Amino acid sequence: MKIAFVGLGNMGGPMAANLISAGHEVVGFDLSADAVAAAVEHGVTSVENAEAAVVGADAVITMLPSGAIVKSVYASVLDHAAQGTLFIDSSTISVEDAREVNAQASAAGMLQVDAPVSGGVKGATAGTLAFMVGGDDESVSAAQPVLAPMAGKVVPCGGTGNGQAAKLCNNMILAVQQIAVGEAFVLAEKLGLADQALYDVVTGATGNCWALHTNCPVPGPVPTAPSENDYKPGFATALMNKDLGLAMAAVSTAGSSAPLGTHAAELYSAFAAENGHLDFSAIIDTLK
Ligand code: NAD
Repeated sequence: MKIAFVGLGNMGGPMAANLISAGHEVVGFDLSADAVAAAVEHGVTSVENAEAAVVGADAVITMLPSGAIVKSVYASVLDHAAQGTLFIDSSTISVEDAREVNAQASAAGMLQVDAPVSGGVKGATAGTLAFMVGGDDESVSAAQPVLAPMAGKVVPCGGTGNGQAAKLCNNMILAVQQIAVGEAFVLAEKLGLADQALYDVVTGATGNCWALHTNCPVPGPVPTAPSENDYKPGFATALMNKDLGLAMAAVSTAGSSAPLGTHAAELYSAFAAENGHLDFSAIIDTLK
C-alpha cells in the first residue's frame, strides 16, 4: 500500500519504519526537519507538506501532539485525498476531538478510525504497540492490516472515539496505581519493612499490578525499571499529565465521578511543573 504518515516524531518515526519493513511505501511529512531526516534514513519518502503526502495514498496515518493540530491537518488534507481513503489517527487526543475529526473525514467521504496506542517509543520501535480502535465496522476492519506491522495487538473498542475513551480510562487507572504503589513503599520504609520484601509479597498477592511488577518506583527489585536509571522514561510525567488532562475533561463532559483519578491528576499536574522529563514513577519522591 501507499501510506501517508503525518507526524514523524518519537512515535511516528519508528512506526513509519515498521510499515516500510513490512513492504509498504510510506510518504511522510513533519514540521521538524530533524524528524524528517531520521525517517528518510528508514526509507520514508519526504514531501514538502501534508497535502502532498496524501495524494494517491491508500491510507493516511496521523501521529501528532494534540487534537487542535489533528483537526487542522485534517482540514488541510481532506480535499487532496481520494474518496474512500482510510484515515487513522493514532495521536492521543480527547474523545470529543476524535469524534469531531471523524465527522470531518466522514463528511469528505473517507473511512476513519481513532487508534491511539500504548507501549511507548519502545513498543513503536519493536512493532508491538497496543492499538485501541474506535470507528464503524468497515473502517475498523480496513484499519487492521495497516496497523498489523506496528502492532502487538489491535483491540476494536466500538464506535468512533471509543479508542480514545479506552486509552484515557487505562491511563487514569495507571496513574492511581503508580501513586498507590509509591505510597505503599513510603509507608513500608517507615514501618521498617524492606523494599524487596514488600515487592516479593505484593507481586504474589492481590495488590500486584504493572506499576509494581514492571515499573517498580524504588530501585532494587526490578533491574529494568526507570527507578534504576535516575527515572529516565519509560513514560514521561509530561505525557501522563497530558493524558490525565484529557481524562479529566472526559470525566467532566460525561458527568462521571472519579475522585481518585481527579486527585491523581492534581498530583501529577503539580509534579509535572518541574519534573515533566522524568518517568511518572518518580512521583514517589513527592510522597517521601
Ligand atoms: P513528538 O513530539 O515526538 O512527535 C510529534 C511530531 O508531530 C513532531 O515531530 C512534530 O514536529 C510533528 N508535528 C506537529 N505539528 C505538525 C503539523 N502540523 N504537521 C506535521 N507534523 C507536525 O510526540 P510523540 O511522542 O511522537 O507523540 C505523538 C502522539 O502519540 C501524541 O499524541 C502522544 O500523546 C502520543 N503517545 C506518545 C507516547 C510516547 O511514549 N511518546 C505513547 C503513547 C502515545
